[in-house]
Amino acid sequence: MAYDYDDQNIFAKILRGEIPNKTVLETEHTLAFADIQPQAPAHVLVIPKGAYVTYDHFCAEASDAEILDFTRAVAKVCEMTGVSSATSEGARFISNAGLHGGQEVPHFHLHILAGRPLGPMLQ
Ligand code: C5P
Repeated sequence: MAYDYDDQNIFAKILRGEIPNKTVLETEHTLAFADIQPQAPAHVLVIPKGAYVTYDHFCAEASDAEILDFTRAVAKVCEMTGVSSATSEGARFISNAGLHGGQEVPHFHLHILAGRPLGPMLQ
């Protein structure tokens, strides 16, 4: 299965330092930053530094080290921002993929949203 990665997408530019971002956490393989148009009081995007288009692409082709780094970064971001579901009123973790998934930026990203009731998941 071939995934076609566009290295001119906006998150690739953020990773290359060509566009600024409000970094929440940076690790060896992962970057987390504030969404530029927050949909909730807390809205953080977590992205791998590697060139993956979607979540399934990341799951299929990322190394174990990248996957572990990413998942631990998600936990750290939740802890740092106070949105851990252990200590807050909960959060939503979303990854849009492709046309039907409503993905706007073709670099895999996990949205972490929290801080208000978010309603039903599917609309
Ligand atoms: O999942 P989807 O691809 O639709 O979401 C892309 C997200 O990237 C949007 O929430 C948008 O606000 C965010 N974004 C950003 N910084 C940019 C461009 C887009 O946080 N420079």
